[in-house]
Amino acid sequence: MSYQLILARTLQRLGILRALELWRSKPGILIVNHHRIGTPDETGFDRDLFSATADELDAQVQYFKQRAPIISGEELEDLVSGRTPLKRLYVAFTFDDGYLDNYTKAFDVFRSAGTTAAFFLVTDYVGTATVPWWDEIAYRVRNTRRTEINLEYPTPLKVPLNGHREASIATVLQHYKRTDNICGEEFLAEIRRETECDLPLPKRRFLNWDEAREMRDAGMAIGSHTRSHAILGRLSPELQKQELEDSKKEIEARLGSKVRGLAYPVGARNCFSHATEQIAMDAGYSMCFSAYGGMNDATHLNRSNLLRGTVPSNPERFRAVATVRTSLGRHL
Ligand SMILES: [Zn+2]
Repeated sequence: MSYQLILARTLQRLGILRALELWRSKPGILIVNHHRIGTPDETGFDRDLFSATADELDAQVQYFKQRAPIISGEELEDLVSGRTPLKRLYVAFTFDDGYLDNYTKAFDVFRSAGTTAAFFLVTDYVGTATVPWWDEIAYRVRNTRRTEINLEYPTPLKVPLNGHREASIATVLQHYKRTDNICGEEFLAEIRRETECDLPLPKRRFLNWDEAREMRDAGMAIGSHTRSHAILGRLSPELQKQELEDSKKEIEARLGSKVRGLAYPVGARNCFSHATEQIAMDAGYSMCFSAYGGMNDATHLNRSNLLRGTVPSNPERFRAVATVRTSLGRHL
């Protein structure tokens, strides 16, 4: 049992969770970040991206609705710019990558609940069957017949495959995400050589422009997650500018409305820089989101780096994490 679950049960048993829920919520903006909605087993690709089923997402929305307003993109912009004073707790939901399940599952949850969320699209992926690097790595490591993978690039890494396969997938993905100045194509070429297996036949995996338009018309915010999902901090300033400007222009042309939000791909501290933040502001974004956790409150409210975090899918852990974060502004 995880420490989070033990703590969640202890807080619940002692009545502390209920007391915190009734006591107060700290002023601030809690921004929840999701990727895929559904069950991990339904994909042969990266299962770690599934952060909740539709029912679990619905329970999260209902829980927060009782404690704080779930805000739209415009309301968030008013808070971030200071037009609305930050005097209470607010919650916002965001989704990265634009997978088809964001339209078929998540959209329904928010529409039925009468609330909204923001969806960040990778413009090269919209309406396509693209298999991005994280999905390709996960698929190949899971399905290879090899008993071990030996990577040379960018630094040597030996990954045995006779144990828990999902842990091996996580090791290879972390190796890629954590290494600065890595060439994605070179890394993938080595993974392909080392795994020797074919990807399944293509089937559409990302929501298309008509679906994005329908979501926008129903009040959802549509933002950019760049053109190609390149890790911005690894690109030259010129290429970063292109990624940010091209994706913004394309979404605006396709949907006929202004794009204000940008979610940095991967969103970890080492995946974008102060220069990236400045380039994003110059490109006309007014809200840019990281993904390494934290609360946006009086001590941190920065429109070029709005903090987002995940929440557990397990309902018991979710309630404890959400309560402690919103009441005390702390992470469990
Ligand atoms: Zn992403």
